[in-house]
Amino acid sequence: MQKLEDTQIILLAGGKGTRLIEHTKDYIPKPMVLINGKPALQHLIEMCLEQGFRNFLILLNHKAEKIINFFGTGEKFNANIDYQIEDSPRGTAGALFDSMDKLSERFIVIYADTYINVNLKKFLKYHVDNKTKASIFVHPNNHPYDSDLVQVDKNNLVVNLYSPTDRPKNPIRNLVNAALYVLEKSIFNGDILENGVIDIARDLFPKILNNGIKISAYISPEYIKDFGTIDRLSQVKKDIKKYLPEKLSDSYPRKAIFIDRDGTLIEDVGHLSDINEIRLFRNSGKALNQINNSGILGICVTNQPVIARGELTIDGLKDIHAQLELMLSMEKGYLNDIFYCPHYPESGFIGEVRSLKINCECRKPNIGMIKEASRIYSINLQKSWIIGDSCNDMLAGNRAGLKKILVLTGETTERLKLKCCPDFTFSSFYYATNWILFKYYKISKILKKFQESFFGIKDVIIIGPAIMSMNICGVFSEINTELGIRKELKIINKHKSENNFGCYQGMDNTSRKAVNWRTKKIFLFEKSPAQVSKNLIKINIVIQKNITKTPYLIKKDPISFTLFV
Ligand SMILES: [Zn+2]
Repeated sequence: MQKLEDTQIILLAGGKGTRLIEHTKDYIPKPMVLINGKPALQHLIEMCLEQGFRNFLILLNHKAEKIINFFGTGEKFNANIDYQIEDSPRGTAGALFDSMDKLSERFIVIYADTYINVNLKKFLKYHVDNKTKASIFVHPNNHPYDSDLVQVDKNNLVVNLYSPTDRPKNPIRNLVNAALYVLEKSIFNGDILENGVIDIARDLFPKILNNGIKISAYISPEYIKDFGTIDRLSQVKKDIKKYLPEKLSDSYPRKAIFIDRDGTLIEDVGHLSDINEIRLFRNSGKALNQINNSGILGICVTNQPVIARGELTIDGLKDIHAQLELMLSMEKGYLNDIFYCPHYPESGFIGEVRSLKINCECRKPNIGMIKEASRIYSINLQKSWIIGDSCNDMLAGNRAGLKKILVLTGETTERLKLKCCPDFTFSSFYYATNWILFKYYKISKILKKFQESFFGIKDVIIIGPAIMSMNICGVFSEINTELGIRKELKIINKHKSENNFGCYQGMDNTSRKAVNWRTKKIFLFEKSPAQVSKNLIKINIVIQKNITKTPYLIKKDPISFTLFV
C-alpha cells in the first residue's frame, strides 16, 4: 500500500494577487510575498516536507518564471517539484483538469496564498477512512456571513455548499470552506470541464454532489488563513508572532475554555425554543473574539432538556445554534464547537421523547460532553477552564479538573452559587474571559514572586472591590496548594462592593468559603487590622480602567503591596 506521505501535493499558485499589488509591486507573484523574510510558498513547501511529503506539482500562471527560478526542480529543498503553466485562466478546477496527465490518483490541493499549519497526514487518513472521493477542510471563522459555508450531516458528509450570495432559508452552522482539499482523480471523469473557467467549490463540488458522489468535511481548529489582502497579510504576520499556528496545531494538547450557554453566553429565557428569543449578553462575541485570537479553543457545553421534553426538535436546536453563531460573528467571535445534551432523567412531560429520558453521561454536572470535546480536539483539561452560571457547571468543572469561573448573569441566587465553590467569580462572561486571557497568569506570576513573604503569615487583608478580592484569594489558594502550605491563612476583605458580598477564605481549598457581607459583618470585624497587623500582608487592589499596563505590584515594605489589575 502507498504510504500517506507519498501523496502528491498540488499547489495552486496561479493567482494574480491584485489586492496585494502594493506589497508585490506586481514584480513578484502573490505566493512569493515575504512572511518573516521567507516567501509564503516556501513556508508551505517546508511545512509539507517536515511531514514527509516530497512530491509537488505547482500550477502557475502569472509571473510563473519567478516561482520556477526560485524553486527549480526542488533539489535544494530535497523535494520533487514539477510545474504546469496555464495558458489562460481556467479557474481552480479547470487548471487541475488541464493538468490531468501529471496528477496522481489521489492528491492534496493547497492554495498558495494561504498560511497553513495543518497535520496533513491526519487529514489524509480521515479522507481514506471515509472512502469518499473528496474531502474539504472546514472550520468556523469570524466572518461566516461573507464566506463559503459547508453544510454537513451528522456524519460530517457534505450536504451542500453555499456562497455568500446564495444562502438557504434557515441559518446554517459556521463551517467555512478553508480551501484545502483531498481529491481523487476519478472525480474528473467525463468531459464536463473542458471549457471555460471552472472553480472547485462553486462548480465542481456541486456537480459531483448532484451526481451522488460523496464528499467529507474535515472539521479542525488548526490554522489556515489566506493572506490575499493587505489586512489579512498583516493579520497572518501578527498571528505568527503570537505562535497562534503552533498553539492551534495538534503537536501538543490544546487549551480550551468550556462555556455554558444559557445564563452565560446568552440570556436565560427559560426553555429557549425560538431563534428570535436569543439575546446575547453584552460583549459575548467580543469575548469570544479575544479567545479566538489567543489560540485557546472556545467550546460551548449546554444541557438542553427541552429536546427530551419534546419542546424542541434537534433540527430546531441546530437552527438556534446556527443563529447564535451568526450573532456572535457580528462581533467577530466564533465557537469552535457546540456540544449539547438532549437528555432529561425525569418523566412526566406531555409530548416527551421517551428514548431521551435517561440518566446519561453527558448532562452536566456529568462530564460526557467535556470528555468528548477533549477527545476530539486533544484538549489538556488541566490547563483548561469552564465558565458558567450554575452549580452544575462548577461541579462539572470540578469533576473534569478544570479551573472554574462563576458568572453572575444567570438565574441562581448568589448565596446558592457561592456554595458551589468556584475558583473565581465575575459579573459576566466578558470579564471572566478577560481574567483568563489577560490577568490571571500575570497576577499569579507576580504573587509567586513574593511567595516567601507568605510563609508565617496569618492574615491577609485585601482592600478593594469584593469580587476582585475574592479572585485574588483564589490565586493565593492555588499558590499555597502548589507550595504545599496546608495551614489555614485568613484573608479578610475589608470592603463592600455593589454585589454585597465580602470574602473570608481559608487558604486550604477544602475549607474555603465565601460569606455574605451583610450577614457576617461582625465576624469580619472581630479581628481588626490593628490586632493582626504584626503578621499581616496588606494588599491594595486598584482596578484600572482601560488597562494599558500589565498588572504589577508596588512593594512598599516586605508585606504590603498595591496590586493593579
Ligand atoms: Zn445527555
